[in-house]
Amino acid sequence: DFKLSTRVQAIKPSPTLAVTSKAAELRAAGQDIIGLGAGEPDFDTPDHIKEAAILAIRNGQTKYTPVDGTPALKKAIIAKFKRDNGLDYDASQILVSSGGKQSFFNLALATLNAGDEVIIPAPYWVSYPDMVLVAEGIPVIIETNADTRFKITPEQLEEAITERTRLFVINSPSNPSGMAYSMEELQAIGEVLKKYPDIMIATDDMYEPILWTGKPFCNILNATPELYERTFVLNGVSKAYSMTGWRIGYAAGPAAVIGAMKKIQSQSTSNPASISQAAALAALEGDQACVGEMVKAFKERHDYLVKALNELPGVECLEGDGTFYVFPSFQGAIEATDGVFDDVEMAEVLLKGAGVALVPGSAFGAPGHMRLSFATGMEVLKDAVARMSKVLNKVT
Ligand code: PLP
Repeated sequence: DFKLSTRVQAIKPSPTLAVTSKAAELRAAGQDIIGLGAGEPDFDTPDHIKEAAILAIRNGQTKYTPVDGTPALKKAIIAKFKRDNGLDYDASQILVSSGGKQSFFNLALATLNAGDEVIIPAPYWVSYPDMVLVAEGIPVIIETNADTRFKITPEQLEEAITERTRLFVINSPSNPSGMAYSMEELQAIGEVLKKYPDIMIATDDMYEPILWTGKPFCNILNATPELYERTFVLNGVSKAYSMTGWRIGYAAGPAAVIGAMKKIQSQSTSNPASISQAAALAALEGDQACVGEMVKAFKERHDYLVKALNELPGVECLEGDGTFYVFPSFQGAIEATDGVFDDVEMAEVLLKGAGVALVPGSAFGAPGHMRLSFATGMEVLKDAVARMSKVLNKVT
């Protein structure tokens, strides 16, 4: 028997990827499965981005780059922060990584010691707690519900803070809830954080442009600029430009910690793929119209899906502010279904009975809910709703 580290035994594989592979398995076995579990846009990567990558290959940009990214890409990221977010950074404050996931992983490994606490609002992106555990930190979860649109209050944050709190994570618009914090809500949270100068903040802005509040995007740093010296802005091209497979994310923050994150990356993966960096450069510097087109499609699907879900028995769904997820409560349906006691069992019934794959809310720290991704065509969504309706109307 191999002896595995306690580190790896403390974590679980990504449940969202697990649902996707379970659906693929059933599909391979000949079953007709609709996948609403995936965390990636269904659109193809825009052509001008692909062309830039092809050109990079032809031009021989196929070698190591600096660990923290090419100077050209870092320059484009600095310009993006200035243009879209009004934030100033220099090159020593930017680290390009192989996806947003690696950005957070680097941050956790560079900042946490055993027993350090990291405050994570639920429902959360599945990977935060596990990455904190790998770094031997302790995830401290703040629970929320539909009453506050799945957002934490300043009082809840205050209550969660202890002497061991090292990092506070905020993701808006949120995977999985689809909710975004307003400027005022962020200011109120910022007021709490101002009182605790030893706490670092990570704002995960991965879904920044996929937003339909009618107000400009803002993050905690826009709301509370005093936090600049201890805030990390995490972003990337995966979701905004439909580039999940290219694996490019980036982080901005205090140079000392960014340097430490770079050191970790230099001893693990080195630079992100040179070709992907050329593609990301084209994404950030090119015409942004492609983003708007995708967001328009997401919004139409969102509007359809929220309405349709609310017509299902035992399902309640709030309108979201952005992303390509909705996070309805299935509590009523769970209670009405014989032999089903929680969201995980409900997801199984929907997978086996309706052929619809979705991710149970407990994966995100919010049992009783389901995450549905609408990064899929409207016809597919309609089919999925019809199938769920059949199953739920039968049992309720
Ligand atoms: N942050 C959030 C909130 C996400 O939902 C994801 C992807 O699912 C990521 C970060 C990581 O994105 P990637 O590593 O694919 O760039």
